[in-house]
Amino acid sequence: MVGVGNIYACEALNRSHISPTRKANKVTKKECQVLVNEIKVILAEAIQAGGSTLRDFAGVDGTLGYFPHQFRVYDKEGSECECGGIVERLVQGGRSTFWCPSCQI
Ligand SMILES: [Zn+2]
Repeated sequence: MVGVGNIYACEALNRSHISPTRKANKVTKKECQVLVNEIKVILAEAIQAGGSTLRDFAGVDGTLGYFPHQFRVYDKEGSECECGGIVERLVQGGRSTFWCPSCQI
C-alpha cells in the first residue's frame, strides 16, 4: 500500500472486504483489481470533498481534505460497519488499522 495513506488503505480494504491481516500473497488477482479500483474511487471522492490535487491529501496523518463522516471504518472503532459488524482497531507496525472482522476476510 505504499503511496496510499493509511486512511485510504483502511477504507479500500473495507470496501473490498479484504482483511488487513491477510498476507499480500494471499490476495487474489481479482481482489487486487477490486482494491485498486476502490482506492481510485476513494481518492476521487477525497478530491471532490474539498481538494483539487492529490498532494492535498498526502499529509502524514492523512486527515486533510477528506471529511470524517465519509469514513466507513477509519477511526470508527466500536461503531457499526455497513454490514452490521463492529469496527475494530488493530495496531500493525506502529500504526492503527481500522477494520470490520465480520465482512473483511
Ligand atoms: Zn463489516
